[in-house]
Amino acid sequence: MVMNKVKQGSQMYPWVTHTWNVIKGKCPHDCSYCYMKRYPQPELHFDEKGLKTDLGKGNTIFVGSSCDMWAEDVSSLWVRLTLAHCIDKHPFNNYLFQSKNPDRFREFASLYPPNFMIGCTIETNRDYSFISKAPATYNRKVAIERYAIPKMISIEPIMDFDLEHFPKWIEDIKPEFVSIGADSGNNHLPEPSAYKIKALIGSLKEFTEVKVKDNLKRLL
Ligand code: SF4
Repeated sequence: MVMNKVKQGSQMYPWVTHTWNVIKGKCPHDCSYCYMKRYPQPELHFDEKGLKTDLGKGNTIFVGSSCDMWAEDVSSLWVRLTLAHCIDKHPFNNYLFQSKNPDRFREFASLYPPNFMIGCTIETNRDYSFISKAPATYNRKVAIERYAIPKMISIEPIMDFDLEHFPKWIEDIKPEFVSIGADSGNNHLPEPSAYKIKALIGSLKEFTEVKVKDNLKRLL
């Protein structure tokens, strides 16, 4: 099964109806908190059978939710085949393409389906590079702010940040909305206080929509 319907109460974004993954296996970003590490992970691979999936129409599909298909080590051909399935066979969905390596979205600029949004995870403005092999959060910020197309930011799992910098970073990016969530796996991350989170949400609401995930309640 490569396309999954999002269940109510799951950790997935509630506004996404389905996830679809054809690029699978060990994600090159190797984040310490990755929920996929709860399961045995094969090597990175392309699941060709996934290209037979009927993605339907009228769905909002997060493509590549279980492995960052935009990581540098992922084959361009795999990404092209994935996008072609969206455009050629199922153009009447909304697609979310989210990455911690947003610089790579440029490589496929002419290949996106009609209705899509790009997303980027930026958990903090601080450099906690011991937690992930993904590009540093500052590099992600600089890359995603260059795109003048619909985009969202995911602050999840939120990590401790600097109030004097983080809201300004997000404002520079000009996202349609921001989704905020917390670690739901007891991964012992450096987490901010309730005061800082509330102040961040207040600042973000001055210029964009904020979607708070249920798993943030633990920190509030
Ligand atoms: S980028 Fe996402 S899928 Fe990849 S290791 Fe990190 S949390 Fe997991």
